[in-house]
Amino acid sequence: MSRDMNESSPCRRMLTIAVVAAIMPSFALAEVRVVTTNPTLADLTRQIGGEQVHVESLMRGPENPHNVIPKPSFVMKLRKADLFVHLGLDAEPWVPNLLRSARQARLLSGGTGNIDTSTGIVLLEVPSQGGLTRALGDIHVYGNTHYVLDPLNGIVIGQTIARALTRVEPRHASLFDERARELERGLRELTEKLTQAMEPLAEARVVTYHRTWPYFLKRFKLQKLDEVEPKPGIAPGPRHIAQLAEEMKRSGVGLVIVETFSNQRTAQRVADLSKGRTVLLAQEVNAVPGVETFQALFQYNTEALLAANRELNGTSTNPPATEPTR
Ligand SMILES: [Zn+2]
Repeated sequence: MSRDMNESSPCRRMLTIAVVAAIMPSFALAEVRVVTTNPTLADLTRQIGGEQVHVESLMRGPENPHNVIPKPSFVMKLRKADLFVHLGLDAEPWVPNLLRSARQARLLSGGTGNIDTSTGIVLLEVPSQGGLTRALGDIHVYGNTHYVLDPLNGIVIGQTIARALTRVEPRHASLFDERARELERGLRELTEKLTQAMEPLAEARVVTYHRTWPYFLKRFKLQKLDEVEPKPGIAPGPRHIAQLAEEMKRSGVGLVIVETFSNQRTAQRVADLSKGRTVLLAQEVNAVPGVETFQALFQYNTEALLAANRELNGTSTNPPATEPTR
């Protein structure tokens, strides 16, 4: 009964292996290798895949998804990937060439490992007539690509990822399914809480730099007055900036939402001319420090908007970091 387990005993060796495995990085145990274009999709994949996946994002958080310059390391990562998770549409124009370079048939468009997370998403700003058009710019021609900025679209994306992981690793199907349901429960709860918190801004009008925010604005009942970019991806000239500032003053609109990849000085210029203020929001997980999850992104953005609105209205010069619970 009390036989000692010495160094060479099978039990001790098994225990050692288990302990080492437990403290090793997660990829040591991962069964599905996933590469995502951006950190937001990487976080959602981790939330569904847990320890059954090893996930890497190609983009860093603050970057412009429409304008990434692929590095040689991207190809190396893709060559080892079972799944490639991306936004689809024309959100990431740098992806098709990259996939050709990686030469993995399963990851190409239509391949079993190519996961387009726009599947099942109800898109906004879809061209209504005459099919695709570049009249409104060189991007967003199928509709607005920034659909991850509605927290409830995270539910649809989570389900897409769960189905993809199940195809690769059917043994864990029930785990992936349960995590997708858990994600849905959490996101519904969070959305309800944040929608209530955003009531002071209900129907408020804002200016946005890039056309990044229609899904976010719609979910949280904000209205868009105009954009700093005259067309998506096109830099504004001095005349456009002056006209926009006039329009803001006339309309009593003071908030300019700016993404980390947009020109902060131009955004500030608009705010200065209109006597408004800019508010930097996270368009992506890891776009700003502290926004490390999909859920944290919405928490951060709603708090930042409420604080900016209070400052603009002179009701607080030192807004609290966290909105009080209502
Ligand atoms: Zn865009």
